[in-house]
Amino acid sequence: MAVQTSSPGRLFLITGPSGVGKGTLVTALLQRHPQIWLSISATTRQPRSGEREGEHYFFLDRPAFEADVAGGGLLEWAEFAGNCYGTPRRPVEEQLAAGRPVLLEIELEGARQVRRSFPSGFQIFIKPPSFEELERRIRGRGTDSDAAIARRLERARIELAAETEFDAVLVNADLDLALAELERLMELV
Ligand code: ADP
Ligand code: 5GP
Repeated sequence: MAVQTSSPGRLFLITGPSGVGKGTLVTALLQRHPQIWLSISATTRQPRSGEREGEHYFFLDRPAFEADVAGGGLLEWAEFAGNCYGTPRRPVEEQLAAGRPVLLEIELEGARQVRRSFPSGFQIFIKPPSFEELERRIRGRGTDSDAAIARRLERARIELAAETEFDAVLVNADLDLALAELERLMELV
């Protein structure tokens, strides 16, 4: 008798500068498509108000994060604006093996590492309508100090120069249109 196995799920990755609207888009996407499994990252950043352990991030101190790196527990990791961020390896592999579509929402250096380990993954770059609008959104979010905003905007210039590396580029101007385009790119509609 044939053993039933599901075919492996697809790996999707979203990146783009801080404040462009990645989190907003991903939340809306998951509400509409609960079959997608979103990877929860580990970070050494302090929780923002309203962020919960295991839901938004796994919040670790540096020694614990470094132990994870040393033990091979992270699929990729990078330093961003003074903090470390990484994708726990095992849950991603398990969800893919179970046939679920897996979504990573991570920054540029991590995206490059994932491209090497999962060349068949589909990587989408989200960009703002303009740099001025990006700055308005980061400031409007009201979650980061002036120093953190400055670091994020400096980093945004580097990230925006890398858009040609990606399988698709999506401009997040109107949120509803951007969400519809994301669904089209991920072949959900
Ligand atoms: P990221 O996860 O990329 O850092 P967020 O999802 O936190 O960005 O969005 C940053 C800010 O921009 C939030 O206040 C969010 O409400 C706002 N925002 C997101 N998308 C749009 C959009 N299309 N138009 C205007 N504001 C937006
Ligand atoms: P934030 O501090 O705003 O939550 O995230 C800062 C940046 O880190 C964002 O660009 C976000 O996509 C990225 N990020 C979140 N999780 C990971 C991760 O696991 N790995 C990497 N490389 N970047 C991540």
